[in-house]
Formats: sequence, C-alpha cells, structure tokens
Amino acid sequence: MKKRNIIISIAILLVLIVLIVIGNLNKSSHKDAIRLKIVTSFYPIYIMTLNITNGAENLEVSNMAENYVGCIHDYTLTTADLKKFEDAAIFIQNGYGMEQFIQKIVDSYPNVKMVDSSTKITDFVQEGEEVNPHFWTSIDDYILQVEAITEGFKELDSSNSELYEQNKNTYIQKLQDLKAEYDSYEFGANERQVVSLNEAFSYLFKFIGVDETLIETDHEQSALSAETVRDVIEEVKNSGIKAIVIGQNDDDQNANLIASETGAKVYRLNDAMSGDGSLDSYINTMKENLEILKIMF
Ligand SMILES: [Zn+2]
Repeated sequence: MKKRNIIISIAILLVLIVLIVIGNLNKSSHKDAIRLKIVTSFYPIYIMTLNITNGAENLEVSNMAENYVGCIHDYTLTTADLKKFEDAAIFIQNGYGMEQFIQKIVDSYPNVKMVDSSTKITDFVQEGEEVNPHFWTSIDDYILQVEAITEGFKELDSSNSELYEQNKNTYIQKLQDLKAEYDSYEFGANERQVVSLNEAFSYLFKFIGVDETLIETDHEQSALSAETVRDVIEEVKNSGIKAIVIGQNDDDQNANLIASETGAKVYRLNDAMSGDGSLDSYINTMKENLEILKIMF
C-alpha cells in the first residue's frame, strides 16, 4: 500500500515536470516567433513603417497612440502606452519636438533603440523660434522620412536589409507617382494665397508653392482670441485671400466667422494623421487632398 502511494506520487510529479517543461518550451518558441517588436509614435510614422517592413517575418509593428485622433504634438503618455515598450526593441519617432514625452520613454526603457524620421529634412518651416514638425504633409519631406527610417532599420536589423531596401524603393516609386500628379497642377502660379488655421498643412503649402498665412492655433482653433480673429479678418480683406483651410476634424466656428466677414471660403484638408491603416493610406489621403486643392485654386 505504502509502496503504491509512493509510485503514484512519483508518477504525478513526473507528469507535472513534463507539463512545466512543455509549457516553457511553448512560451519560448512563442517569444522567438516575434523577433523584433517595433513601436511607432503616431499614424503617419506607422504607415511609413508598415510599408518599409512589409513581408518581414517575425516582426510586429504597433502604433503607440493608435486610438488618438489629434496631433501627437500635445499628447500625454498613458500607462498603457508605456507598457507597449516593455518588450519593444525599436521606437520610431517623427522628431523635432513632436514627441515631447520622449524623455519619459528613454528613462523608463533605456534599451529601446530610437529611430528619428526627421534626420534628412533640411527646408524647415519656422514658427517663431521653433521648427514646425508636421513634415509629412509635404510629399518631398515624407519621402525623406521614409528614407531615414529605412536607414535606421537596416542598421538595427541587418538580416532584413535587402527587404527593407526593396520595400523602400517600391514605396518611393508610388510616392513619386503621387508627386507627379501634384506636379501637373501649378498651384503656385498667380501668387495664390491661403489662410490656414491648422499648422499641419504648412509643409503641404510649401510643397505646392502656395503662400500660406498661418494662424497659430496649436490645433485648437476654438481657442483663438476675438482679437486674433479680428486681425485675421482684416488681413484676409486686405490681401484678397479667397481660401481658409482647416483640418478634417477641426472645429469650424472661427473659420466660418472669418469667411462670413470676408467672402472667403472654408476648405477642409486631411492632415493624414488617421486613416484605414492600409499601406496606401497616406497616398489615398493625399489624392483626396489634391481634389480639394484643385477646387480651392
Ligand atoms: Zn501638431
């Protein structure tokens, strides 16, 4: 009787050991399945990264601020955001002060490698003392960002260098085609001017050669003072500006007020900071913007 009990106990113990070993094997093979975890700061950078890493095996790209529709500009990190960096290898950022929370990530996860998409950009739009960091609305600058991210990847994950290079070339070809569509319209002719209440479009207007008067709103047009609105109305009247631009999700109260006082029209452009998450998301958004620009000018 005693002997039997001992044998049963040993058998149970063996079964448990085997189960634990199998469990651990599963865990580690699952870990191996995702070799490289990449976190992007926000939507435009996410779409660039999806294109560059398309088809790469055992790699996971997640977008940090995925459910946030505003500009990452004035974003506050959440605990859930920080958690995404726990086993991340690479963080891809827009750069130039867009990610004001970056130090918190560096402090919490010093091993996460940083890729800065802005390193190749040279023709900055100044906003007072600061550089406007909304580069991606210029197709030229968007291409430079794609190139910078690709170089970062090739350095950090050399085993996939060739694939990244290939993907980059395919994507840039598509972007060049998009650029050609824009280039067939001479928006900059006749010294056209626009008033913009959204700083994300400064690089788009620079790209198409249209003179932009930017009213700094920090993406909060509703917060414009009555005095600023009065000044803008004067400026639009005096310069004969016909177009007022806001973003797709922006409050339109002030824009409508300026329009009703001046006879200028309000147009909504898409800042490409949200979309369907597809590889061609940016390209499709910029095509939609092109149609609006054609009506505008
Ligand atoms: Zn912004």
